[in-house]
Amino acid sequence: MITLKTPITELNRVGKTVSAKLKKLDLVKVEDLIYWYPFRYDDFSNIKKINELKAGDIATIKGRIELLANKRSPRKRMIITECFVTDETGSIKAIWFRQPFITKILKNNDQVYLAGQVEDDLFNLYFKNPSYEKIISFAGGPNKEPTHTARMVPIYSTTEGLSQKQIRFLIKQALGVVNQLTDWLPQEIKRKHKLIDLKTALADIHFPKNQQSLIQAQTRLKFDELLNLHLQNFLIKKEVNKYRAIPITFNEVKTKKIVENLGFTLTDAQRKSAWQILMDMTEEKPANRLLEGDVGSGKTVVAALAIANAVLNGYQAALLAPTEILAAQHFQTFKDTLKVIDCNIALLTHFKHEVVNTTDQKNADLARAKILRSLRQGELNLIIGTHALIQQEVEFNNLALVIIDEQHRFGVKQRQAIREKSGHVDLLPHFLSMTATPIPRTLALTLYGDLDLSLIDELPPGRKKPITKLVDPTNRQLAYDFILKQIQAGRQAFVICPLIDESDKLGVKSATQEYQKISQEIFPQLKIGLMHGRLKPAEKDEVMKKFTENKIQILVSTSVVEVGVNIPNANVMIIESAKRFGLAQLHQFRGRVNRSHHQSYCFLFTEKFSAKSMERLKKLVDCYDGFKLAEEDLKLRGTGDLSGIKQSGFFSPLKIASLGDVKLIAETKKASKEIIEKYSKLIDKFKLKNNIHPE
Ligand code: ADP
Ligand code: MG
Repeated sequence: MITLKTPITELNRVGKTVSAKLKKLDLVKVEDLIYWYPFRYDDFSNIKKINELKAGDIATIKGRIELLANKRSPRKRMIITECFVTDETGSIKAIWFRQPFITKILKNNDQVYLAGQVEDDLFNLYFKNPSYEKIISFAGGPNKEPTHTARMVPIYSTTEGLSQKQIRFLIKQALGVVNQLTDWLPQEIKRKHKLIDLKTALADIHFPKNQQSLIQAQTRLKFDELLNLHLQNFLIKKEVNKYRAIPITFNEVKTKKIVENLGFTLTDAQRKSAWQILMDMTEEKPANRLLEGDVGSGKTVVAALAIANAVLNGYQAALLAPTEILAAQHFQTFKDTLKVIDCNIALLTHFKHEVVNTTDQKNADLARAKILRSLRQGELNLIIGTHALIQQEVEFNNLALVIIDEQHRFGVKQRQAIREKSGHVDLLPHFLSMTATPIPRTLALTLYGDLDLSLIDELPPGRKKPITKLVDPTNRQLAYDFILKQIQAGRQAFVICPLIDESDKLGVKSATQEYQKISQEIFPQLKIGLMHGRLKPAEKDEVMKKFTENKIQILVSTSVVEVGVNIPNANVMIIESAKRFGLAQLHQFRGRVNRSHHQSYCFLFTEKFSAKSMERLKKLVDCYDGFKLAEEDLKLRGTGDLSGIKQSGFFSPLKIASLGDVKLIAETKKASKEIIEKYSKLIDKFKLKNNIHPE
């Protein structure tokens, strides 16, 4: 029998290839499919007769296939599939490009649904690349309910070689066991907040009957997600308060010395934030603070001051970065910043390790095992790495401070894990998370109720704002000429592309293709590098190293460089298909090229600017305030204008709710308090499930 925990491989039509692709998306169990929510829907529920169709309509028709044939297009040397579909009112042509297999699936005289937008070529209406679905009727019985047409059709995030049809087919199977789920919310809460049942919500989020049932499903699932978050926050806070931490005395003399050696003056906001975290750390209560500051506002040095004080008190500190690139970069920075105190620093990631002593700067290429041993024995003062640090065989001697960069949440499990490794199980290290995610203050307080908040709300003085320009295709060459001049003057440039693989449907430039174009056609005389998430860590490291040393002049990259990367000499950025990104994310990108006294430039390229995307992207030209731009994003999201744009992954921990759901965020916060007061059994179960141990 299939259950929620059954491996996906036991479903129909999941062989080795398909299961490997599903695994890429982290889809392993039947249950995972149920929670793989669509990111948008095609509304094909408008079923029309052929003679009612008008150009521009998005509709489904029902009819019989005639004259189906593959043809070779004379100009473009590709296969075009054509047919006519006829109902009792008329006939319409359908054409598909590069999908010759359709003639194997469909046959003349088949009854089908066709769905899509009706196009118009001056003479006739036709469908271009419509969705199609055979109408299968059981002998004498009713027709099988359509999945891909004639309804609201879900569109899922996917990976190369896994089609929407395949995913829908699998999710339909998975939904067969949705009845095995138990709804965790008490009836009373559901009634009070007018929420539908969990099973119905999960079924409808994939295959909504109509707009209204979709909204009800979304509301229920958002409610659950936000409630979950509030409950976690609340219970973690309670849990954290049970522990003591090691009080760290503020070493004023040495801290001043570090600051004097920086080569710049701290901004008031940096000074204030550093003071807040340093004061937190003097307490016996574990510090638990979120440091928010726009890209380039200088969060790293605040972290350095906190770490220095932990080390000066004789304790260990750990700094976790989201990527290998960033960890390696922090290692270099801290080597410098902490020069004036005696500090043994290690870099440890899955593929790389290195140790340095800040005062004699000798590079010890210690074996991994030796690094781990000296960490355990307390000879190492600071360890820098990725999250692997807390998953691996890492143990500390006397860990007093953990800093997490560019990730505003540190999971309960991770906290638990780090406590167990810290060297004293009854004490909790002080925590500082740092993020450039510009969440408005009130919202941050609601969402991360367990954290104290520090803001760096100013940039270092003398930074020139990047000159941002929207460039249409006719001016592309001018932009390239400009970049060449900058590079000849010694600068470097980034080219950012949205996806790794070419995806015709989206018309999006891929980094790999762009790399070939730039290195072979546009700048054959320059050294070009390629960076994307599918490179091996060692390859990434090599590329970043070359870029840092100016051995690569232009780096073509996907969004992996979005967070944290600091290459002050790079002052130009091109963003391809800019309209596919949210404003806050674009702002993050251009933060990469505004890191020194050189005037910086950001060129937003897009194949075609619609009036709407033009208006949105113009905001970036005029505004250099991450918080304001994030609010603009939220406003647009609230109105559904950004539905086609993928939310930036690090923007929030939320899967279905968004920071724009302000009302629901407040409502669920109230509900969380009520549940904690009234439903102790539910809370016990919740703690168990979320690894929050009652003690
Ligand atoms: P982020 O907040 O995005 O992590 P970083 O800490 O990487 O920013 O700092 C960005 C750059 O600004 C670094 O090169 C850093 O040395 C520099 N910087 C930080 N603070 C100041 C300051 N007060 N004055 C001048 N430059 C600064
Ligand atoms: Mg940073």
